[in-house]
Amino acid sequence: MLGAGIVGVTTALNLRQHGASVALIDRGHPGDETSGANAGIVAGNGLCPIALPSGAAVWLDILLKQSTAYTVALSTLVRLAPWIRAYLQNSGPEGIQRFVRVMAPLRAAARAEHQRLGRLANAQRFYRNSGWLQLHRSEASLMRAERERHYARIYGIDYQTLRGGEMHEVEPAVRSDRFFGVYWPDCDSVSNPAGLTEGLWREFIQGGGLFLNGDANRLERRRSRWVLPTPRTEVRGREVVAALGPWTPAFARARGDLFPVAFGRGYAQHFRPGSGVTLKRPVTDMDHGFTLTPMERGIRLTSGVEVADPADPINSQVLHRARKRAQDVFPLGQDLPVPPVMGTREALPDSLPVVGASATQRGLWYNFGHGGHGLALGPVCSRQLADLMAGNDPAVSANALTPLRFA
Ligand SMILES: Cc1cc2nc3c(=O)[nH]c(=O)nc-3n(C[C@H](O)[C@H](O)[C@H](O)COP(=O)(O)OP(=O)(O)OC[C@H]3O[C@@H](n4cnc5c(N)ncnc54)[C@H](O)[C@@H]3O)c2cc1C
Repeated sequence: MLGAGIVGVTTALNLRQHGASVALIDRGHPGDETSGANAGIVAGNGLCPIALPSGAAVWLDILLKQSTAYTVALSTLVRLAPWIRAYLQNSGPEGIQRFVRVMAPLRAAARAEHQRLGRLANAQRFYRNSGWLQLHRSEASLMRAERERHYARIYGIDYQTLRGGEMHEVEPAVRSDRFFGVYWPDCDSVSNPAGLTEGLWREFIQGGGLFLNGDANRLERRRSRWVLPTPRTEVRGREVVAALGPWTPAFARARGDLFPVAFGRGYAQHFRPGSGVTLKRPVTDMDHGFTLTPMERGIRLTSGVEVADPADPINSQVLHRARKRAQDVFPLGQDLPVPPVMGTREALPDSLPVVGASATQRGLWYNFGHGGHGLALGPVCSRQLADLMAGNDPAVSANALTPLRFA
């Protein structure tokens, strides 16, 4: 099992539960990368792919580097043109229907899978049944998100649209007079995403799993076995799962599996709440792409999307711009002495993850491409993969998430 983010750790736990002997390998500490740097939302909603930015004013803002929601260089846009074309093709009515059909059963099971693994690992303390508040700065913005509510009504996902006093009741500290709100009660949030991943990892170890530091890129095929030398020992196995988050496509390319992928980085920083008020739940500004989440260490601000490769230099402007806009929503106090962290979302053009067997290599499996939803969907997709590997019926059709759709 390669990669010990939320996806790799929960895959390892599920494989152990299916009776497999599992070695989990990561170059660092479990949960230290994107799984520790997110907004902590375990959403029960989210049945539509995220729309790409549209409108001349929005694009002008992006190109002039004034946007909080998106940061992208013109040269990156040009390089990503084929991916953008494929994304737009998948954003038509047929593509959306396909996405909804696959996503609905995953979303329906996502919170229960978290609860199941949380109980197993005695990690329930990290979960709060908090709901999620989304803010729109205009009625036009609220209407642009109507499709999401349309599918929520069809699939029986509860929500409430809120104005002024109603919003004040749900989240008193938000400057409610400026916004239109949509409150999704069927969402949980995590008070410490890195702590949760670590807690699940500890359960894996206590249950007899083996964890080793090592570099997944050293994986080799020797006759019918996979072999990975690590500083402590050489690991051998018939089957290997790559759950390396944004680093998976490069690993796959070196083994003959090509995935069209775009990367959206995001930054997280913690603040004291200003003037004695606090938040009860995650609050997302849907126009400016940032989220404020109450966490163990304070209020975590997670930025919008910076389209850049995971290994590119850090861009401190992204967090700086988000911080300025966030003051419109909630009074942020001083920075807490916790260094900002960065994570990367890797996205396929149909907005669905890749969960299944390699198109080219026997015994190689993938679980990645979770975009901005991998905390929520990690456990349920990990169970899907473990079921596929064990020959059990998975939650959604294997074809829907197969790597073969890009072969
Ligand atoms: C700003 C931001 C906010 C987000 N908010 C949410 C949210 O609210 N809700 C939600 O559901 N999702 C959210 N996400 C998405 C979510 O965090 C990710 O989808 C999820 O963490 C992906 O987990 P992972 O295990 O696939 O990847 P990672 O957490 O990146 O783990 C990959 C692991 O692979 C290891 N690795 C990589 N290369 C190698 C190698 N060569 N050898 C050995 N090990 C290697 C790394 O060390 C790492 O531990 C957010 C993401 C961002 C960036």
